[in-house]
Amino acid sequence: MRVCVIGTGYVGLVTGACLAHAGHHVICVDNNEEKVKLMKSGRSPIFEPGLSEIIQSAIQAELIEFTTDLSAGVAHGQILFIAVGTPALATGESDTRYVEAVARGIGAHLNGEYKVIVNKSTVPIGSGDWVRMLVLDGYMERKVSTATPVLAGAGVSGEAKTVLSLPKEPEFDVVSNPEFLREGSAVYDTFNPDRIVLGSNSPKAITLMQELYAPIIERQYSEDKSLPQVPVVVTDLSSAEMIKYAANAFLATKISFVNEIANICDRVGADVTEVAKGIGLDSRIGSKFLQAGIGWGGSCFPKDVSALIHTADDYGYEAQLLKAAVSVNQHQRLIVVEKLQQVLKILKGKTVGLLGLTFKPDTDDLRDAPALNIIEQLSRLGTRVKAFDPIVSQTGMRHGLSDVIVETDPERLADGCDALVLVTDWQQFLNIDFAKLATLMHSPVIIDGRNFLDRKVLEQAGFRYVGIGKS
Ligand code: NAD
Repeated sequence: MRVCVIGTGYVGLVTGACLAHAGHHVICVDNNEEKVKLMKSGRSPIFEPGLSEIIQSAIQAELIEFTTDLSAGVAHGQILFIAVGTPALATGESDTRYVEAVARGIGAHLNGEYKVIVNKSTVPIGSGDWVRMLVLDGYMERKVSTATPVLAGAGVSGEAKTVLSLPKEPEFDVVSNPEFLREGSAVYDTFNPDRIVLGSNSPKAITLMQELYAPIIERQYSEDKSLPQVPVVVTDLSSAEMIKYAANAFLATKISFVNEIANICDRVGADVTEVAKGIGLDSRIGSKFLQAGIGWGGSCFPKDVSALIHTADDYGYEAQLLKAAVSVNQHQRLIVVEKLQQVLKILKGKTVGLLGLTFKPDTDDLRDAPALNIIEQLSRLGTRVKAFDPIVSQTGMRHGLSDVIVETDPERLADGCDALVLVTDWQQFLNIDFAKLATLMHSPVIIDGRNFLDRKVLEQAGFRYVGIGKS
């Protein structure tokens, strides 16, 4: 099938590349010229395991193209994905200006062929109908501007001429197809989703979407071919939009829940890791997302929970549980600073080294990462902050990192530190020679913000080890 993906970030680029890998003809559109240049050369502008490889093979197979030209993308695609960012505004609402620009732009370039317009971006509930309206607005604006010179003198005959060149109403349907991929395993998740959600009131659009996803639904890319087909949830637009928000809000709340339990464990002398194991074995609870630590972050959970709280508010409901989940998380992000104060007392004039910066491992994404709050708070308290991150240290990205010295390896990080804080559970941190690091530090203290390291190994290496909810 012919596909156009507009917006080539973590979601759009992975979607476009995976659909091209599945044999579809994909044009990816982005208004960032630098990005488009890079992608044309077969390189990925983001770090995501396996992504560069599938982009390169799709380019070789002539199944993917990159452009800044929206009109070319719209003309090409039977299915048009909107995958631009929807960051949070200061009020907590979702900033939908990029979606708006793209929806109007699509309308302005519709060419008479039936199109399915897919909201892949996470958009506030009700956005499906709003996108339809904007597409029609964009279409009508173009129609009027095309018609104006003729209409001015010709009246009805001029209008008839315009109707001939562009149909009165363009033929299209809107589908909400929320994305659930996780950064760090985005390619794997796209080929192996837990479910595909399709929201629309058009059976024709749903059928086309099922055709598009057929190779994935039929598990052609799953290692285990005996697995049953990927469940497809077909629903109305608003329910599909709500499914995305409810899923993220639930996961964020689950993490805040276990962090609250961890804080109580700290006070009563219980071990939250044991507690999480004990409750997670209950099939009604499940073991995932029960790892206590410095809380949730990244480009999705914070903004999606805020947006849902805001939507509830708009409709006269106070989302008390979600507000509490946010509040627990705000406190949790700085829990390592509290623990540093308990061990080192005065932090002014001390040096602290952060192991990891990104909000989770296997990504280069620093958006709303807890590390940024920790750096800000430590700097405010007069602490010198250093950091080492396997990806950020290599890429030279320094956005939001003006108050931190980014080191190139763990030994340079540890040199002269009064304490280390594990911020991100990168797998390679398990292989660090901690005994060596201990010899380089003023005082070998480690706060394990993810309960990721082995206390015994660290203590044998000479460290004082402090975890979260397991003191
Ligand atoms: P991103 O910021 O990484 O990428 C957005 C891209 O859109 C950028 O490349 C930008 O240049 C481009 N863009 C903006 N305006 C444009 C325009 N007018 N025309 C063409 N391109 C334009 O965003 P992302 O992380 O991929 O997220 C996209 C959406 O998917 C968001 O709504 C997000 O909430 C949702 N989502 C993200 C994730 C995730 O893990 N990142 C997971 C699920 C859902």
